[in-house]
Amino acid sequence: MKGIFPIDKFQRMETPFYYYDAELLRETLRTINGEAQKHEGFCVHYAVKANANPSVLRIIREAGLGADCVSGGEIEAALRAGFPASKIVYAGVGKSDWEINLGLDNDIFCFNVESCPELEVINELAAAKGKVAPVAFRLNPNVGAHTHANITTGLAENKFGIPMSDMLNVIEKAAHMSHVKVVGLHFHIGSQILDMSDFEALCNRVNELQDTLERHRIRVEHINVGGGLGIDYQHPNRVPLPDFKDYFDTYAKKLKLRNGQTLHFELGRAVVGQCGTLITRTLYIKEGTCKKFCIVDAGFTDLIRPALYQAYHKIENISSELPMEAYDVVGPICESTDVFAKQIDLNKAQRGDLLAIRSAGAYGEIMASGYNCRKLPVGYMSDEI
Ligand SMILES: *Cc1c(COP(=O)(O)O)cnc(C)c1O
Repeated sequence: MKGIFPIDKFQRMETPFYYYDAELLRETLRTINGEAQKHEGFCVHYAVKANANPSVLRIIREAGLGADCVSGGEIEAALRAGFPASKIVYAGVGKSDWEINLGLDNDIFCFNVESCPELEVINELAAAKGKVAPVAFRLNPNVGAHTHANITTGLAENKFGIPMSDMLNVIEKAAHMSHVKVVGLHFHIGSQILDMSDFEALCNRVNELQDTLERHRIRVEHINVGGGLGIDYQHPNRVPLPDFKDYFDTYAKKLKLRNGQTLHFELGRAVVGQCGTLITRTLYIKEGTCKKFCIVDAGFTDLIRPALYQAYHKIENISSELPMEAYDVVGPICESTDVFAKQIDLNKAQRGDLLAIRSAGAYGEIMASGYNCRKLPVGYMSDEI
């Protein structure tokens, strides 16, 4: 699969850098739209935190998705990329006043509220502007996801959302506030979820909560089930697209929407994960006492997922056809966790060889840091280089 990269162009470029396959991103978006539009009332938002590269955002906006933001900076990035404010949802446990005001000034679609004190502040700030803020309550459904412990969000022990047992209370409270309007319920159980039964468990929980609301004669317009659909990190070539059909069909089958309700999704990783690759150059091959290190010019400042979550990324030597050898692929940063992979097979590597660290489109470039006074990596769209 070396053929998928324009290696001649890469040779002349300063490394490390992110490379985004525009064609794959567009195909992913076509598939999402095709599968979601089979079901009435399904609206898909893109979770901007996965990747806010302006070229990436532009292609996603062109496909007509809405934006899911978790900070004022993301709202600004989404607006700059041309997402209509009417398709922007805003979640986050710690919204500061300027961020809430930014959402109010732009008349965003909905604030996903994560606590009672936050509800009160939104009500006050909206009152000061003579506006009514549309709010959805982010409920913590206490549904586990079979994924890495650091990326589950829907358990009672996580900081996110309002406990289910408080649902009626907060809705009652909001009903007495003049500058908020409850338009929905919001959930998000975690990330890199591949087992559809986790989403089914969420559907069952939402159905129970809606039954409870109905008994109290409460009806919301929108249900937002968050994101979390995973990608195949092991097989980026064979499985470049997540199973969006299974994902949307699961919700269509299991979640009982009430008449006229819309169902919102906030997909991040599944949209952009597979289209991105981190390209890095081999600096040195170092013979350790019992293994070989392939030392590259990218580090966890460029891609932190392996260091942060022990995440797996497939790595290929795209400059070599030589027989395979085992390497630890490591970066230059002064931390022992700066390791991309241990004891993996690569075509025999030498100084100057380019390595492709695959499936790095989500939570890659956006999480880059300047630790060790390193430069931030640049991201290039395939049709712009
Ligand atoms: C991170 C996040 C998402 C997107 O998660 P993915 O796993 O990338 O799909 C969606 N909604 C909220 C509220 C989030 O915090």
